[in-house]
Amino acid sequence: MSGPVLPGSIIGVLGSGQLGRMFAIAARRMGYRVHTFSPDSDTPTGQIADEEITASYHDLDEVRRFAQRVQAVTFEFENVPAPTAAAAASHALVRPGGHVLHTTQHRLREKGFLLSAGLPITPYARVETLEDLHGAVERLGCPAILKTADFGYDGKGQVRIASPLDAETAWSEIDRKPAVLEALVDFEREVSVVAARGVDGAFAHYGVIGNDHRNRILDVSVAPARLDPRLETDAVEMARAVLEELGVVGVLCVEFFVTRQAKLLINELAPRPHNSGHLTFDACVTSQFEQQLRAVCGLPLGSADLMQPAAMANLLGDLWTGGEPNWAAACDFPNVKLHLYGKLEPRVGRKMGHLTAIGPDAEARVRAARRSLS
Ligand code: AMP
Repeated sequence: MSGPVLPGSIIGVLGSGQLGRMFAIAARRMGYRVHTFSPDSDTPTGQIADEEITASYHDLDEVRRFAQRVQAVTFEFENVPAPTAAAAASHALVRPGGHVLHTTQHRLREKGFLLSAGLPITPYARVETLEDLHGAVERLGCPAILKTADFGYDGKGQVRIASPLDAETAWSEIDRKPAVLEALVDFEREVSVVAARGVDGAFAHYGVIGNDHRNRILDVSVAPARLDPRLETDAVEMARAVLEELGVVGVLCVEFFVTRQAKLLINELAPRPHNSGHLTFDACVTSQFEQQLRAVCGLPLGSADLMQPAAMANLLGDLWTGGEPNWAAACDFPNVKLHLYGKLEPRVGRKMGHLTAIGPDAEARVRAARRSLS
């Protein structure tokens, strides 16, 4: 294996959303160049990158041309098709490797991996036919959630089943696609662990972050989560096991439910920087984006220490309903930072930006700053 990919090199990013944008900001700050590849143009990542390539993920000749011009490829979107990652790997280092994408972009494969690693997950059943679904509803009981096996995020491709009578409608709503049925967890809290693993197996983590969701979309994250210390240790050790068993080189987030019986259950994995880790940009010695860059380039990982308590509030397109939000009002809050992703079209539920507050009472201040916008 050759040495690290050093500053001055070009890093390719598959995907072009806000995660790639913040990765590109971190990479450019350290003297790297960035090329981004996605089907879109004038994207959040493209606005920061040195080059924006607009082509289909299925155009493997374009993918190969893109990979030939860069020294390493990473992704900011785990639904990049497996053949795309393989085509890129024929010309450049791809980190994390295609096997990580393959496992985590499909709920059944992901759950199979977690079970085989002996990690706790939500009770679930595989659903491929309507009969499977009726059987699964009977076994798991109601309420339950039907989730398509692939291409799901932020609650998309999910239908809640309140009674066995809802099964048929739910099955049509997900277009009769392979799915999993999950028992609805009566959780006390949702938390996540964002962690990184280097080429040499080094491990770094950002502790346990507390997450509030609204309409199944992340709303507010708080670090530290202040969970029971035993649960915190367990959550971090589970994250370490996931990164090691999967052989991740890069950043991965493990999302957990904390049940009312104080048990951790893994909800899902995201093999990239995560929305709950956005606060690391302002609050940690090394952000999750710089950590991804270091891991992908084969550099030593940086310190993941939290310099100050922090909280992050997402800014969804809903905020634009009454016109442009009042940015000046939010900037008037001390220790609150505004991040906007350069998306041109605000739509309901679309992540347009976020606010981070650092220091004492971060959560109350970030919520107040967000209220001041409208
Ligand atoms: P997901 O896309 O699977 O992460 O789901 C988005 C959000 O929906 C989660 O963060 C939870 O708030 C909620 N959710 C998903 N699955 C379950 C479940 N099995 N039980 C309770 N809530 C869930």
